[in-house]
Amino acid sequence: MIIRLSSSVNPEQVEKIVSTIQSLEYTPQKIKTQFGNYLVCIGKNEIDLRKIGFLEGVADIHKVNDPYKLVSTKWKVGKSTISIGDGVKIGNGHFQIMAGPCSIENEEQIISTIDHLKKNNIQIMRGGVYKPRSSPYSFRGLGIEGLKLWYKLAKENNIKIVTEVMQVSQIEEMYDYIDIFQVGARNSQNFNLLDELGKVDKPVLLKRGISGTIDELLQSAEYIFSNGNEKILLCERGIRSYEKAYRNTMDINAIAILKDRSHLPVIADPSHGIGVRKYVDKIALASIMAGADGVIMEVHDCPEKAFSDGQQTLDYIQSSRLIHKMEKARKILSY
Ligand code: PEP
Ligand code: MN
Repeated sequence: MIIRLSSSVNPEQVEKIVSTIQSLEYTPQKIKTQFGNYLVCIGKNEIDLRKIGFLEGVADIHKVNDPYKLVSTKWKVGKSTISIGDGVKIGNGHFQIMAGPCSIENEEQIISTIDHLKKNNIQIMRGGVYKPRSSPYSFRGLGIEGLKLWYKLAKENNIKIVTEVMQVSQIEEMYDYIDIFQVGARNSQNFNLLDELGKVDKPVLLKRGISGTIDELLQSAEYIFSNGNEKILLCERGIRSYEKAYRNTMDINAIAILKDRSHLPVIADPSHGIGVRKYVDKIALASIMAGADGVIMEVHDCPEKAFSDGQQTLDYIQSSRLIHKMEKARKILSY
């Protein structure tokens, strides 16, 4: 059960609501976010919602039986719009493409990527400075100094940054230089990291775990929301399956289901989703048809020379072509 408190609620009213809930054998948890005050109440009894709905200070009350609560569509009217700043928005009809290399490599590469994004009216650049790699001997990113250099160049060009944070201690050092914190597939259930990202006010792009279920992704999002941060983007990036013809199995189904079950925007990552360059465009378009609110994709001026994930990275010609096709796909959907 979710109770949304009215903005003018006072402490006495909250206590009265809390004691009424407890008398019904429910356990209320107080949640304060950037946008509202809620009581998430866990219990088993069938109760008459009107007993609480009439109390002063209650804005509305909804039954939510899912294991995730605040990220569920069951209590919120309409879809969430996530503001990235300077008028850049995602969700609820706002569509964004995020493009850039798998790893940030050097100044020249940053400048060339920004130039490609500007030519295609893309406002958000992706790239990793902390890279989770299967082998400890692979390139693991330029770290905070790379991020600072990237930030300077991005800022000068009005480009927003989405980049992966791998551990709690990095949140503070990265905070001033990023616009969206990315939680990678390998950290999708790092609950300490999710708790801490719930305490910041910048958006979080939360990837689905490599073998994570849709329910697990939504419960991970619930960690962030219930700690106070409503600005969450869910990301489908492919799951591990028995199929060997490509890297990951892009779960297009999940996009439609996440959009149905949650009010949060859903971003598709076709690059990791299939992991083979020649199919990335088709999977990106399929994701849009399934309802994605945005696409995050890997691009590089010379994918063959990329420090990581070159095999699934588009060159600028392929990227521009896909961006154009995605615009057309979006138009078809609006008919
Ligand atoms: C990435 O975006 O480069 C990345 C490492 O993604 P994932 O966490 O989905 O593997
Ligand atoms: Mn990558």
